[in-house]
Amino acid sequence: AVKPIQRALISVSDKTGLIELAQALVENQCEILSTGGSARVLREAGIAVKDVSDHTGFPEILDGRVKTLVPQIHGGILGQRANTHHIQQMKEHNISPIDLVCVNLYPFEQTVLSGAGKEECIENIDIGGPALIRAAAKNHEDVVVLTEPAQYKEFLEIFTSSYGTTLAQRRQWAGKAYAFTALYDATIAEWFAKGQHDDELPKTLFIHAQREHLLRYGENPHQKAAFYRKSAFSFGVASARQLQGKELSYNNINDTNAAFEAVAEFDEPAVVVVKHANPCGVAVSHSLLSAWELAYRCDPVSAFGGIVATNRSLDEKTALSLSEIFTEVVIAPDITEEAQAVLQKKKNLRVLVTGGMPDPARTDRVLHSVSGGFLLQSQDNGIVGEDDLKTVTKRKPTLQEVQDMLFAFKVCKHVKSNAIVYAKDKATVGIGAGQMSRVDSVRIALNKSREVSSKLHLPDPLTKGSVVASDAFFPFADGVMTAIEAGATAIIQPGGSIRDQEVIDAANKANLAMVFTGMRHFRH
Ligand code: 5GP
Repeated sequence: AVKPIQRALISVSDKTGLIELAQALVENQCEILSTGGSARVLREAGIAVKDVSDHTGFPEILDGRVKTLVPQIHGGILGQRANTHHIQQMKEHNISPIDLVCVNLYPFEQTVLSGAGKEECIENIDIGGPALIRAAAKNHEDVVVLTEPAQYKEFLEIFTSSYGTTLAQRRQWAGKAYAFTALYDATIAEWFAKGQHDDELPKTLFIHAQREHLLRYGENPHQKAAFYRKSAFSFGVASARQLQGKELSYNNINDTNAAFEAVAEFDEPAVVVVKHANPCGVAVSHSLLSAWELAYRCDPVSAFGGIVATNRSLDEKTALSLSEIFTEVVIAPDITEEAQAVLQKKKNLRVLVTGGMPDPARTDRVLHSVSGGFLLQSQDNGIVGEDDLKTVTKRKPTLQEVQDMLFAFKVCKHVKSNAIVYAKDKATVGIGAGQMSRVDSVRIALNKSREVSSKLHLPDPLTKGSVVASDAFFPFADGVMTAIEAGATAIIQPGGSIRDQEVIDAANKANLAMVFTGMRHFRH
């Protein structure tokens, strides 16, 4: 049965859409009760409203801390219309029923984000609002509760066509209302907890994320999946606008994120090609086109069906070149009109534009599920610079080697362990990823490089004259021996193995330069 609305309580901080909503209610003989600021906005629009204080006979006090926290209001919301005992009591105390509650809350989060002081933040903790919302949601059998302007349109469509709502609809809004107040309180709780725990790891973990949309499936077709958006903002796959192409899949989002985070490490024009969340080609160069060509050259076989990320606005020349191969997703901070016209010819290609780059040095948290719990850690935002390098071999690296090593080590951070990255002239020439033994990664990278050079009819593998980066220390000298066989001239690695000396000796014997970073970049 449809439930009509005779009296509504409107008390909102965000006044968006308020006038249209109130107008429709008044036109349908609904009385509107409202608090100070909301009532003012409505009156200015010529809408008849009654102040809550007139309705209750009790003024708003304590600078608005107490506006609606009175029995006339909460009784009017919570009284069950089908309960004769409730109706009797309401009559006795002169309480009239309220059929709709439209409330959104003091902007606590925005106040905190604006850098406001403690007192202002505390004043922006809404007390009466959540009480109204929770009361209305509890009594959804009889009361409609609206908590965000985005719901008004849906409500008005129903209301103006049937002059009331159904229980199923009210139940749905009630569920949203509790999610809304829970998130609100979680935000406040987290603000109080800030700075009270080591390294910002909270005692209680609240996950602030809204389900953005359902995905067709998860990593595999028999798994369900959805994408959730955090309220904290950073440029990336979550902020991206999709300009064209098929819907993004779970794997697309995950891989695209890996590619974009990796390309954000570099200041000069850079391109990263990713397959299965691992880079299969990375390069920086004087232009995006040149970076793309070098990145692609590293492993063209793997690049097929990959994800391409750039850290500059995608230009026409680069778009033309990359549209020659089959790519699943292209992600860039921006795109020129000409480049867009080029990519439009590839109907299925997903093109994402983010509006900016994430800061690789930002502090963020990374969540991982294990059975029975979660692992939470701060993001790996470690960046190794020239000053951090300690030369451990007789030969010091050349300037060129140092630059290539720093580049390769940055790439390593984005390759699954065990990670080995060969690089030359700031382009990867061999990547070994995800092996259970480090020496296998070194060999795989070399073998891939050999394949590429034989296709290009080059006498030597691309690794000849390159540098090698390892995400963690070499436990034995065998990895170094393979790197020597590949023609590498310098090695960058964290150091710290009990066999470091053996590893250093092997490097010295072949006149390699080796530097220790003291920082490890495991990525499991
Ligand atoms: P207005 O702009 O209408 O003066 O205030 C609207 C805001 O007041 C809404 O965000 C609502 O949640 C909040 N509010 C309503 N009643 C109370 C109350 O009794 N105490 C507090 N602290 N806030 C209230």
